[in-house]
Formats: sequence, structure tokens, C-alpha cells
Amino acid sequence: MLAIQIAMPVLGAMMLVMVWSLRRCDVPGVRQWWQGNVAVAMSLLLFGLRGHASDLLSVITANLLLLWGSAQFYAGLLRFSGRRPDWRRLWWAIAAVTAGVVAWRYGRDDFNLRVACVSALQAALSLHAGIVLLRRDREAVGQRHAASRYATAACALFFGTVYLLRSLLSAQAALAALADGAPGHSLAPAGLHIGFLLLGPLAMPAMTLCTVVMIHDRLVRRLEDAANTDFLTGTLSRQAFESEAARQFAAARRQGLSLTLLIVDIDHFKHVNDRFGHHAGDVVLQRFARLARTQTRPADRLGRLGGEEFAILLPELGGNAARRIAERIRVLAAADRVDGDFGTVGYTLSAGLATLRPGEGLAELAARADAALYQAKQHGRNRVRAAEDTVDATPLLARAAVAGAA
Ligand code: GH3
Ligand code: MG
Ligand code: MG
Repeated sequence: MLAIQIAMPVLGAMMLVMVWSLRRCDVPGVRQWWQGNVAVAMSLLLFGLRGHASDLLSVITANLLLLWGSAQFYAGLLRFSGRRPDWRRLWWAIAAVTAGVVAWRYGRDDFNLRVACVSALQAALSLHAGIVLLRRDREAVGQRHAASRYATAACALFFGTVYLLRSLLSAQAALAALADGAPGHSLAPAGLHIGFLLLGPLAMPAMTLCTVVMIHDRLVRRLEDAANTDFLTGTLSRQAFESEAARQFAAARRQGLSLTLLIVDIDHFKHVNDRFGHHAGDVVLQRFARLARTQTRPADRLGRLGGEEFAILLPELGGNAARRIAERIRVLAAADRVDGDFGTVGYTLSAGLATLRPGEGLAELAARADAALYQAKQHGRNRVRAAEDTVDATPLLARAAVAGAA
């Protein structure tokens, strides 16, 4: 018991330092977890003063702080999951339980009834937070880094069950004492009571540790997303596109499915920049990315290879279907008018596409799509060419030589 009394403040201080260092990071819920931790730590200090300080401080204020801190922590878990806590309802619940604590201190002094009502609210908060965490995470994309959220949910459900048991057993002990006419101080069965004393103070550090891991995971996920996303257009970055292409290529080979690569380059883009300004060029790039996204399926991948060059990966799609998509994008782009304080800008694009051949590698596929794009540019721009259209598509190296000679 002494070891726990020594360990708890140390653990508590470590938790506070941890949450303090994270308090400014831009993750919803962090501020509430920080405030909840401080309030619960203060409540434990006040509970420790029982017998040395007035009951107003060591019973009423301590319980009020415990409830408020638990509510803050709960609100943080909801906000982390993208939900808004209902503070009106929370305040009513805190007020009702505090009224119970006051009545069972100054009316009939009954420890068990106080514990029963405080634990009931803590159980409700923990169990609800656990269920919400299991259900949703608004920022999550797929199930990446979901383990810490599930661990936190399990922790919340576990402590919620412990609080519920404590509440029920305390209420039962209180009722038994009332029936016997015994004083209200007698505790729930001793073994269980010690179990609760051990587990109760562990709840906050355990939950805090879980939330710190959740914060860590969310920040890592944001960093990954930032690295994989092109800042200007929101498409995949070149690096992310290449690893996605390698993945899709391997899957297509394994399952014998078709795969088409489309490379798109905006025509005379330098002219757009020169005439309307760099900002207008940026807006055109964003517009094109949005347009391309509306014309592709969720399974297709759009990446920015650099400058005004984009690539679209079309899994399970043969040349003809892919050509129809490319043609639709080209026509829509040519009809698009981009308005802004720079004026009205129109643009066209050229595209080259290649469909995976048996025995071909990814680099060869990319080279053929690139050569087809070059052909589209050569034949006057604002057109789509398939590698299959040009049997002797100019190889990549020859292309550089032609460009040099021009
Ligand atoms: P072509 O029809 O042959 O493709 O000609 P082009 O002018 O589109 O191609 P070129 O490679 O000569 O010029 C591309 C221009 O794209 C040059 C560069 O300044 C501009 N650019 C590259 N990245 C960005 C960007 O992020 N924003 C803007 N606004 N311009 C960019
Ligand atoms: Mg261009
Ligand atoms: Mg280019």
C-alpha cells in the first residue's frame, strides 16, 4: 500500500509533464485531457487531506474536482473522435451528483452512497467514451494507426466496468447498512474495496498514457499524409505515386489484370504563367486536379509528377476504356474557364497512355506512356495518344536527342 502511495504521485507528475508538453499540439481533445489531469490530480491531493482539512475541502470540493476532471477527460475523448460533448447535460449530471455528495455528507453521512453516485457518473462517462472511440475517428483514413484508439477504447471500457461494479456494490452495501441500521461509513466487502482503491487511481494514468499514444499516432499519420500529398493540388506526391504504382503493378501481375497508365501535361503552361502570372498557373493546376478527380474512380490514383505534369493510374482498365476517360478529361479541360483576379484563363492538355503488356516492367510501361505523350505534343497538342497508336513510339533517349537538335 505504501509503495502505491509513493508511486501514484510520481506517476501523476510524469503524466502531467507528458500532457503539458503536448498541450499546444493541434489535436482536438488535448486541452481537455490536460485540464482533466490537473483537476483529478488536485482532487486526489484533497482526498488525501481527509481528516486534516475540512470536509468541505476534502469531501465536497475533492469530489467536485474529480467529477469535473473526469468530464473534461471524457469531453477530450469525444472531441478527439470528432464529436462535440454535450456540456449542458454534463453540467446537469455533475450538479446532480454533487447534490448527492452534499446530501450524503451533511444529511446522512454515508460514504457508500457518495461513492455509489460518483462512480455511477464515472462509469457512464468511461463506457460512453469507450463506445464512441470504437466507432469513429474522423481524421482516420482506413485503419492506419487505429491500434492505439482501440487500446484506449478497451481501457475506457475496462475502467467503466470497474466504476460500474464499484457503484453497484457500494449502493448494495449502503442499502444493507440502512436495513441493519448500521452507520453509513461501513465499506463494501473489504477485498473488493482494496481492489477498487488500487484500480481507481490507476485509471487516469492508464487513460492518459493511451491518449499520449493516440496523439503520437495521429501526428505521425498527419506527417505521412503531408509527405504523400502534393501541397498545391492535393494529389499524390511523386514519391507516393511511384510507390502506389509499384503496388498496383505487382497486384496486376499477380492477378493477371490489366493496368493503364496515363500521363498528362498541360499545354504551353509557361505561357499561362507569363501572361497571367504564377498565381493563375497555380489555380489552373488546382482546377485540373479537381477536374481529373471527378472523372476517375475511387480506385484510380492521381499523382503530380512535377510542374504541370500529372499521372493517372487506372487499374483493371484496358486501353479503350482508359482512352475514353482520357478523352473526356481532355474535352472538359479544353472547355474549362478559370476565373480570378488575374482574368479568365483557358487551357488544354496533351495525354499519353499505355496499357500493361505481358512480360513488361513498370519502367517500360512508363516509358511507353511518356513516348505517347511526346507524340501527342508533336501532333499539335490538345490530344490523347495511346502507345498502341504509334508502333515505333520514339524511345525516351531519342526524344532527348530530338529536343536537343530542335
Ligand atoms: P508544353 O506544351 O510543351 O508542355 O509547354 P509548357 O510551356 O507547358 O512546358 P514547359 O516545360 O516549357 O514549361 C512548364 C512551366 O511550368 C515552367 C514552370 O515555370 C511552370 N511551373 C512548374 N511548376 C509550377 C507550379 O507549381 N506553379 C506554376 N504556376 N508554374 C509552374
Ligand atoms: Mg506543358
Ligand atoms: Mg511539362
